[in-house]
Amino acid sequence: MGDRYDIAIVGSGPAGLSAAINAKIRNKNIIIFGNKNLSSKVEKAPKVNNYLGFYEITGTELRDQFQKHINSMNIDITTERINTIYAMGEYFALAVNEKMYEAKAIILATGIEYTKPLKGEEEFLGRGVGYCATCDAPLYKGKVVTIIGYNREAEEEANYVSELAEKIFYVPMYKAEYNLKRGNIEILKDKPLEIQGDDRVRNVILKNETIATDGVFVLKDSVAPNQLVPGLLVENDHIKVDLNMSTNIKGCFAAGDCTGKPYQYMRAAGQGQVAALNAVSYLDSL
Ligand SMILES: Cc1cc2nc3c(=O)[nH]c(=O)nc-3n(C[C@H](O)[C@H](O)[C@H](O)COP(=O)(O)OP(=O)(O)OC[C@H]3O[C@@H](n4cnc5c(N)ncnc54)[C@H](O)[C@@H]3O)c2cc1C
Repeated sequence: MGDRYDIAIVGSGPAGLSAAINAKIRNKNIIIFGNKNLSSKVEKAPKVNNYLGFYEITGTELRDQFQKHINSMNIDITTERINTIYAMGEYFALAVNEKMYEAKAIILATGIEYTKPLKGEEEFLGRGVGYCATCDAPLYKGKVVTIIGYNREAEEEANYVSELAEKIFYVPMYKAEYNLKRGNIEILKDKPLEIQGDDRVRNVILKNETIATDGVFVLKDSVAPNQLVPGLLVENDHIKVDLNMSTNIKGCFAAGDCTGKPYQYMRAAGQGQVAALNAVSYLDSL
């Protein structure tokens, strides 16, 4: 366990980055978790015409500008995926597999998944369905695991789990050259429809076949916010916030797509700023 940070920011899209620069300007000791590419939703935009000051910029150009900005302010992204955040009263404990980080306040800027959960996914969560393959891998030693991967990071998880599991079915939800290392990983280019079982997961039904499996990992960019932070109030799939970007948990703020529509860069960045400034006021009041 390391230092206790003032503010931990979860998510490296426009909301998280804007929160980070504003908290840093206010001299707070921050840590920001996210990805090397910052946000695939920023990177993928073909042309952006509604980000003030950047007419006709492409998503990758905008990402590069964001990267330049944080570099200039000595802000580094910690490229780890937070699995669960526990409100401990005085502080928050952020769990990354077996590792823990601590912060006095947190800002959730995790974005939103456009895809709906699969049929059976929520029903079997914790009974064979999981969102962090590397965390739960030891449970599947010598067993059959299906990984439904929405991004390239899922390939790394598949490679790791394949060291323990007997067999992996990898169902990619994107097109790429898949970097899957071991012979016990079978790629199934098919559409997952449903997860079925009895007291626990037994099968995954794909469009063209049904596969018997002991575990299913659904690996997306972000998970439902109340999975990430137990006790967090969520309304219509979004984190409930007030105008200060405060959630129902003291010291926990949220910003960006995870708080609701419209899903836009400038709204996300603006909310990240409001969340950071209110997190600073919260810290000053302690
Ligand atoms: C193709 C496309 C084009 C678009 N074009 C436009 C446009 O022209 N104009 C516009 O205004 N908007 C556009 N948008 C919408 C815009 O991308 C989003 O509104 C914006 O990115 C939201 O920012 P955010 O910071 O809330 O979340 P995101 O940008 O989604 O960033 C969230 C980040 O948090 C990370 N994360 C999530 N959970 C965790 C965790 N547990 N631990 C660590 N990291 C985590 C994610 O991996 C992600 O990198 C477009 C979106 C798409 C997909």
